[in-house]
Amino acid sequence: MIRRPFGWTGVQVPVAGQGTWMIEHDAQAVEALRLGLDLGLTHIDTAEMYGSGRAEEIAGEAIRGRRDEVFLTSKVLPSNASYEGTLRACDASMKRLGVERLDLYLLHWESSHPIGETMRALEKLVADGKVRFIGVSNFDVAQVKAAEKALRHERLACNQVLYHPWDRGIERKLLPYCTGRGIAVVAYSPFGHRAFKRNRVLDEAAKRHGATARQVVLQFLTRNEDVFTIPKSGNTDHVRENAGSWDFRLDAEDVAAIDRAFPAPDRDVPLGMI
Ligand code: NAP
Repeated sequence: MIRRPFGWTGVQVPVAGQGTWMIEHDAQAVEALRLGLDLGLTHIDTAEMYGSGRAEEIAGEAIRGRRDEVFLTSKVLPSNASYEGTLRACDASMKRLGVERLDLYLLHWESSHPIGETMRALEKLVADGKVRFIGVSNFDVAQVKAAEKALRHERLACNQVLYHPWDRGIERKLLPYCTGRGIAVVAYSPFGHRAFKRNRVLDEAAKRHGATARQVVLQFLTRNEDVFTIPKSGNTDHVRENAGSWDFRLDAEDVAAIDRAFPAPDRDVPLGMI
């Protein structure tokens, strides 16, 4: 698995990690996550929201005894994102995960609590050694700028956003802004959640490289050095397939064909969200 510097942090993070939203059938999910770790998908993405904490427990079981291998991300729910609420939510997430520190802690989406309050809490978590890096999710350019302005001691390390071939809206303004600031972009729902569609161009590219359409998609989405992704799978065959997405190399012709088949919008569009 390819690793790259995670934005300005310089920490080497695998280009693909593993999502945990809607993870089911616990034993199977744990097995799939552990296989993913074996194959280098060591960025685990979870959130207090997923399964009301259950996904964090499953992720915690999967990484038990392997904490040092993992780049671990969790997120605070906007409704909990007051100063005290964020501190409490982080402690609860770490307890469910069975860890003493998170690598990355994100505000899940914009909150009605003042952004300055949430950012102050995230900075406090870094100062207390509970969190290595902080970031946001589902933030457009204006929201990222507001969060940056509210920070006094830390920098945003990440913006986790929706990005898949059927929604390339971030490529217009958000991706260039984040990369310019050294903020790593983590593409969530790379397969469009559960809406993956067969497509001739993807199938042809896959055939040329002895790969699959999903592998083509993962490599296409991460063609920019500052983009990472976190496909979710509770199925070991699918995990193997996803991990093999960089075993071949899309060429310029493939990228151009995919670009034409799934064009980025030609005007600014609101940030997509699931
Ligand atoms: P996704 O990764 O785009 O797609 C997941 C779906 O694809 C599952 O149904 C999975 O089924 C299937 N799948 C995965 N690999 C496959 C393969 N090789 N072949 C066939 N099917 C495959 O969707 P997502 O879960 O929405 O997004 C990924 C992660 O991003 C989430 O789990 C979560 O951690 C994060 N996320 C964050 C936000 C946010 O607001 N920050 C929002 C959405 C998601 P199987 O399990 O059966 O393989």
